[in-house]
Amino acid sequence: MPYYRLGLIGWPVAHSLSPLIHHVALQACDLEGEYRLYPLEPQHFNEGAASLIQQLRNEELNGINVTVPHKQHMLAYVDRLTASAETAGAVNTLYLEEGRVVGDNTDIPGFWMDLERLGWAGQKAAPAHSQITLPVYRAIILGAGGAARAVAVALAEHGWQVGLAARRSAQAQQATAELNRKLNGPQVAALSLNGDLLANFGEPVAMIVNATPVGMFPEIDADAWPEQTPIPQGVRVYDLVYNPPQTRLLQRASTSGLPTANGLGMLVGQALLAFQCWTKQMPSFEAILHAIRHQMDPNYSTHPIQPEI
Ligand code: NAP
Repeated sequence: MPYYRLGLIGWPVAHSLSPLIHHVALQACDLEGEYRLYPLEPQHFNEGAASLIQQLRNEELNGINVTVPHKQHMLAYVDRLTASAETAGAVNTLYLEEGRVVGDNTDIPGFWMDLERLGWAGQKAAPAHSQITLPVYRAIILGAGGAARAVAVALAEHGWQVGLAARRSAQAQQATAELNRKLNGPQVAALSLNGDLLANFGEPVAMIVNATPVGMFPEIDADAWPEQTPIPQGVRVYDLVYNPPQTRLLQRASTSGLPTANGLGMLVGQALLAFQCWTKQMPSFEAILHAIRHQMDPNYSTHPIQPEI
């Protein structure tokens, strides 16, 4: 039976939940292996990345996850990028295929997988050349960094219209232009977090996604949705932050009776998709998520869990 040598490269990674998720997944699939942390300070990235890539080539390692702040830098180190990694402009999963190191991005399908689990994904895309007109779903994403882009791609690829709302309009405009170029269509619009968030964006809005770190431990008394703007009725609110499990944004939304979800499902989703690349096995998403919720430190919201990005 193969022994899987897996791990995570990032900085810092000490409080990562990935080892727990992958050990639970290995156990669920009755596989043997290990998942180690490879803390790599940004100033040592080049040597560290080259060494890990070599270990993948030599099959001393079978799979590596990449997290902040190395996801973009890793693009230059791989032999081939998958379409997801190309569109996202970021790599979070590495593996060897026919002697070549492949850089993949499982954040995009991981987010979508969690939306499907929640029943929030909306309609399936209309078949090509179909005459059927499907309703357009709209989402506002708070933030315009790496995670916001991954979420925007996941939604846009499934026919959603997306508004990227950043506090720096130049960042939102640049991300919007790049995404629309890659997506071959004007599915993403730049919005301003400082102005009237809902102006210049069609209604109704079906979902708000927080893709900023605002509200994350230890600064739990903040959220990125403008204080003066009521959260629209009828939306679902997804916060990529999962520490604490109930962020201030999610509390605000729940108080208004709106459905909410935190980012733990996306974290587990992207991990299982990477696990599938490495082992060709996919344990039950629900079962692993359930196990992680139960095996996590019950006081995890008081610890600085390293966000997996
Ligand atoms: P990033 O690339 O650094 O982008 C962060 C974005 O948030 C930027 O647009 C940034 O704007 C904005 N931002 C930061 N502080 C802000 C504030 N106080 N008010 C308004 N906007 C603010 O980070 P990322 O990789 O996209 O990650 C964002 C969050 O998503 C993190 O909390 C991360 O843990 C979480 N995440 C979770 C998962 C998951 O699986 N659940 C996956 C990915 C990411 P500026 O550039 O102006 O600061």
